[in-house]
Amino acid sequence: MSDRYGDFIQSSLGKKVAKNLGLPMPEALDRFESGQRIIRGSVLMGRAAGDDQQVSNSVASILSELHADVFVSDESSTADILAASGVEAKTAGKDEKYKVLVFDASNIRNASELKQMYEFFHPVARSVEKSGRVIIIGRPPEDIADIDQALAQRSLEGFVKSVGKEFKRGITAQLIYVSEGSEDNLDSTLRFFSSARSAYVSGQVVRVKAGESLEVDWSQPLAGKTMLVTGASRGIGEAIARVLARDGAHVICLDVAQQQSDLQKVAGEISGSSLTVDITADDAGQKITEAAKKRGGLDAVIHNAGVTRDKTLANMDESKWDLVININLASIAKLNRYLIDNKALNDNARIVCVSSISGIAGNLGQTNYATSKAGVIGLVNATAKQFNDTDGNMTINAVAPGFIETQMTEAIPFAIREAGRRMNSMSQGGLPVDVAETIAWLASPASGGLNGNVIRVCGQSLLGA
Ligand code: NAD
Repeated sequence: MSDRYGDFIQSSLGKKVAKNLGLPMPEALDRFESGQRIIRGSVLMGRAAGDDQQVSNSVASILSELHADVFVSDESSTADILAASGVEAKTAGKDEKYKVLVFDASNIRNASELKQMYEFFHPVARSVEKSGRVIIIGRPPEDIADIDQALAQRSLEGFVKSVGKEFKRGITAQLIYVSEGSEDNLDSTLRFFSSARSAYVSGQVVRVKAGESLEVDWSQPLAGKTMLVTGASRGIGEAIARVLARDGAHVICLDVAQQQSDLQKVAGEISGSSLTVDITADDAGQKITEAAKKRGGLDAVIHNAGVTRDKTLANMDESKWDLVININLASIAKLNRYLIDNKALNDNARIVCVSSISGIAGNLGQTNYATSKAGVIGLVNATAKQFNDTDGNMTINAVAPGFIETQMTEAIPFAIREAGRRMNSMSQGGLPVDVAETIAWLASPASGGLNGNVIRVCGQSLLGA
């Protein structure tokens, strides 16, 4: 879909006009292409002083695997930890520019120790490249009994979200809370947040916990896996199917019969298979299970199909309420139950649901839609708890897209559309591929530590933040 203002602003005249009038200046975001390096530039790594080296050790070994060009800001313990993983870090010069700033804050134990964040980030706040990445890693405050330490770890969230709003130029900022003992599960998340795959994800707080993360070939992390995507004939669903296939998965593309020709085209182009099913039909679970079993079961289900039927509550007829709740929420709960009970999901299967920031913030004219999308988050939270208590190492997570350039958002009246597009730290709408990349990360066999997360793909939208 076209963003004419965004295109204009990339021209030299557009840049001048926007600067003089103080208009939003959307940056062209780096996006991932197959075969590309994960980190395209230098990394500055730092850590808060303290005895616990678990997080830093894990970060160092990931940077080593990535053959990253790593700097440290002083002759601190960071250089020694990197050296133990075989990374010879350079000492940062004044003029150095960085693609990634990564800081291990897990040792921060009280309010005064937060100063170490200021000391690390302040000198380099203007040294981050376009589409750069700021990543802070801490400990989940809810796991900490000591009040001083818990408040300090919780403080990291305010810091990260402010950096996301301040740095501009397509730079993202994220906070990873990793539970003690789960540091080995950081790999897939650190890679995602360091790379161009996370172009439109910013200001997010992710919890990495215990769980079985499987080894993958990082050039084809989904190789040999079978994944089902609902609503795959167009828009975000089509992008999800394409990205999962690019990463090696066989994708079963599902959509309603009316979409059959588009569906077959997408499935054909990615060497996947197609399945025409209405997810609200009584026999939907059975048809999906049959298709899944023919291919040795499902390694992931992506619940993407969804509809809007916007009207203010006073003007909304019953059918619009029923349709939206049925497709966007009730059918997902029903299908999950059926697929689990009928063993259509393999061990280590991933379920990823598509919610919306409308479900987090609410939206005028969307009582039905926001109810359904908030319900999806409830479903993910409750199912994640159940998965924690059962064998099989399955996980469930959600993405909550903000303004994504699709047919759905093209239909919004111009003024509201333009506001939705600009009211975020990136000053632009996201692309379907941004949602798809986030789903590919959550659906990866290497993401066993992620269960019950809701990741917004919204460029750090002001709505519901
Ligand atoms: P879209 O309308 O382009 O695509 C939705 C697809 O779902 C269509 O192919 C449709 O045929 C299919 N579908 C609808 N009902 C179905 C049913 N009963 N059974 C099987 N398939 C069915 O929409 P999109 O913009 O690509 O949105 C995809 C998902 O992302 C939806 O869940 C939507 O709510 C969510 N979302 C979109 C945005 C955005 O900005 N576009 C923002 C937040 C969330």
